[in-house]
Amino acid sequence: MLAGVELLRLDLPLREPWVSAHGVFSTREVLLVHALADGPTGCAEGWGECAALGEPSYSEEYVESALDVMRRHLLPALFSARVGSVWEARAAMKVVKGHRMAKSAIETAVLDAELRLAGVRLADHLGGLSRLGSTGPGDAGAAVRRRVAAGVAVGIAPSLDHLIDAVGRHLEEGYRRVKIKIRPGWDLDPVVALRKELGGPDRFALQVDANGSYAGVADPAASLTPLDEQGLVLIEQPLADDDLLGHAALGRRLSTPICLDESIVSARSAAVAVALGACGVVNVKPGRVGGYLEAVAIHDLCADEGVPVWCGGMLETGVGRAANLALAALPNFSIPGDISASSRYWWSDIVTEPATLAPDGTIAVPLGPGIGVDVIDGLAARASASEWFSAGRVGE
Ligand code: MG
Repeated sequence: MLAGVELLRLDLPLREPWVSAHGVFSTREVLLVHALADGPTGCAEGWGECAALGEPSYSEEYVESALDVMRRHLLPALFSARVGSVWEARAAMKVVKGHRMAKSAIETAVLDAELRLAGVRLADHLGGLSRLGSTGPGDAGAAVRRRVAAGVAVGIAPSLDHLIDAVGRHLEEGYRRVKIKIRPGWDLDPVVALRKELGGPDRFALQVDANGSYAGVADPAASLTPLDEQGLVLIEQPLADDDLLGHAALGRRLSTPICLDESIVSARSAAVAVALGACGVVNVKPGRVGGYLEAVAIHDLCADEGVPVWCGGMLETGVGRAANLALAALPNFSIPGDISASSRYWWSDIVTEPATLAPDGTIAVPLGPGIGVDVIDGLAARASASEWFSAGRVGE
């Protein structure tokens, strides 16, 4: 049963400032959920990382909103329900609408504790949940990979030379898939420059992410159709989050597949987007969709529809990165995701086994139970704030 939860805040400096259509930041405000659970075999800790950023720019949620809804609503609901499993936790949190990133972080911490108590890896658990390959009771479910193809995301650069230099360094590090951020006025030129200076699709896979920045453009297709000749893997989220019809119409004018990120907030919204032809690829971010269980459901329905998926990133520490590696081990994660080595973002990670990139451009899926990594000793000393909530204090 869930016995207590600690909420920790950290302000971690990024190795370099992150620039997208949503803005610029050089420090990642991190919110971690630390759950304590007990069961017949003993006690276990679990960890979940909230995907929310410091500002409500990527989505409506932000760190302070996540903290507030956890304190006032989600944790009291969990403790009142005396939850004993992740499915019970998920059901208890349904009293709150939205706030998917907050729910996902709590769900992951509860699931991690549960799996550590049972001695089961998160990747194997998610593979078991996936319908892929499941032929009946007792079937182990989808086979999961041992290693995941890594990808690197590069923000909007101050100049083409800066961009070429940054991407060139990542290729030397071993990455074979690169995503760059684009926005109106910074789209075709950077793609053409990268292809000219660093090589074609045989050297590295390239894709672009607009973060909805073509929403106000009179004719987005006029800006984006020239990209069709550049051999891109996909164009991610060109239009607004809720503009599925616009994405469908734009997709009919482009030969490059459209991928949706911000638009997909649940398995149901993914089903609608696919049915409308609004996307040919889905970026799955567990935080954005309310957790890893929902992410598996999206993986499965996309597999049924022949839509490949990949795992997006939210500048995670080693805690969130380890869980994302477990998810990306599922078979329909057939496009390399935004899962990079820890050193891409951090001078010093907060887990004992930070993700590292192998020369073949892959990262190992953690082997231990639960998310498979442990936080460092002394994490509390790096936290800017922490609060404990105990199941026994409900009603005081
Ligand atoms: Mg994106």
